[in-house]
Amino acid sequence: MLEGCTPWPADPARRYREALLWRGETLGTLLRTAAAEYGDAIALVHGDRRITYAELDRWADRMAAGFARYGISPGDRVVVQLPNVPEFVAVCFALFRLGAKPVFALTAHRSQEIGHLCRITGAVAYVLPGVHRGFDHRVLAKEVRSGAPSLRLLFSLSGKGGDVIDLSTVDAEPVELPGQDPSDAAFFLLSGGTTALPKVIPRTHDDYAYQIRATSAVLGMSTSDVYLAVLPLEFNFTWGCPGVLGTLVSGGTVVLADDPTADDCFALISRERVTVTSVVPSIAQLWLEAAEWSEADLSSLRVVQIGGAKLQRSVAERITPVLGCELQQVFGMAEGLLTLTRLGDAPEVVLGTQGRPLSEEDEIRIVGPDDRDVADGEIGELLTRGPYTLRGYYRAPEHNAIAFTEDGFYRSGDLARLTADGDLVIEGRIKDVIIRGGDKISAAEVEGHLLGYPGVLRAAVVGVPDDLLGERTCAYLVVAGERPSLPDLKRALHDCGLAGYKLPDRVEFVDELPVTPLGKVDKVALVRLAERSRLSVTNRKG
Ligand code: AMP
Repeated sequence: MLEGCTPWPADPARRYREALLWRGETLGTLLRTAAAEYGDAIALVHGDRRITYAELDRWADRMAAGFARYGISPGDRVVVQLPNVPEFVAVCFALFRLGAKPVFALTAHRSQEIGHLCRITGAVAYVLPGVHRGFDHRVLAKEVRSGAPSLRLLFSLSGKGGDVIDLSTVDAEPVELPGQDPSDAAFFLLSGGTTALPKVIPRTHDDYAYQIRATSAVLGMSTSDVYLAVLPLEFNFTWGCPGVLGTLVSGGTVVLADDPTADDCFALISRERVTVTSVVPSIAQLWLEAAEWSEADLSSLRVVQIGGAKLQRSVAERITPVLGCELQQVFGMAEGLLTLTRLGDAPEVVLGTQGRPLSEEDEIRIVGPDDRDVADGEIGELLTRGPYTLRGYYRAPEHNAIAFTEDGFYRSGDLARLTADGDLVIEGRIKDVIIRGGDKISAAEVEGHLLGYPGVLRAAVVGVPDDLLGERTCAYLVVAGERPSLPDLKRALHDCGLAGYKLPDRVEFVDELPVTPLGKVDKVALVRLAERSRLSVTNRKG
């Protein structure tokens, strides 16, 4: 077991094995098995590229040998920051087979996030996109490397130069590779967490293989399925719920979208006869609007999964009539637990709940502030443990002491209730996270950067309800002297290397931040204040 990871205790681990939830498979061998069975079928489509299972399997072997030649060894961590391209999938399978551990980064991440990921994981390599959407990640890589001594190797999807290695040259005759321990971490997902610095989630071969098999079964995935990857591949939702990996173990085809726009995605749905896709509510809303006038043939779609943020009922109700397919609501977290509505569930369940846990072994508790179970049907914090929910963040003992109960339940920070039938309804959050479209923003992280701006004495960032994105960020500041403008603040945060989606949408100035009786910043009051001032601005405009 990799140092810094927390294993499941022996007892539940034995139970999960006996129940055949954990089958001792490794992610690298799942592709091998699929390639043996579906060799000539198309595994991946991107633009004009069509890659068969056999080709992907061989590619992963050759790339694994290529990485090994560069000295990447079992157990090494490798930060992977790539857009939705076939190389993303090949790099991950190559690293799985080698026993090295991909650490998933978002393409929007900049030096703050990449630097932190490299340092916390002690990454030896960083796979970057080259120039992506006008931003040269090679410049960022050099900056990051100066502060991350472990980082030896830079691989770029496009463009070499200096000591950046062209990813396409990572290729060698396949070699015999050591076997992997299925109970070990296979890769790391990023938490959409609450802390000033993002936390890293180890996912084991055993737990993730189970998750993709179980979610594929829930959706009835088969060789005739075509999955459209719209959201970034590095999201748990896209990668494995069942997403890319679930489609590949089922013998289906994965189509990679460059952009979530209705124009691009509808064209891909009709060209490739897409059957399943997964999106966040804000994208679903844009698609619904576009479908009203679009002539694209969406008749192949059988299920659209929507999750990652609260789906408004008014939007949920339009999915089947407008897109002509079933809606599946998904509540999930990179940390593990997934709840899903099931195909054929009653409309009331599909439209009004986030469904049932994926696994019979998922344990859920809904607790009050005293950590005691609330009465049936009441709202409280959702705690969970189970066969694919982490027992600890990577190298984070102090945070783990508060993020988990003593008996291993993960404190989700989500407010939920259970219906009489056992379906989960998400009612809000107690964690200090803003969910802007599909992106999770830790208020503490942005506040920390705002406090670095000259003259800012206090800062509080809150999420203000927004019709399209669900929430937008508003920064409340107490400043001494001149008030900075929003563009100035954004530029300063951008210049310190913070990802664009974390920059505040709005700034407001106050003489003092309101506090609760316990002396903490009263964010509920700030959200109310932000909404009032938005309404008064709207009224003035009207
Ligand atoms: P992430 O780990 O980035 O996927 O974020 C997980 C968090 O997203 C959860 O803890 C929830 O706060 C939120 N979330 C995910 N799915 C839903 C959903 N269907 N409804 C409401 N919130 C959701």
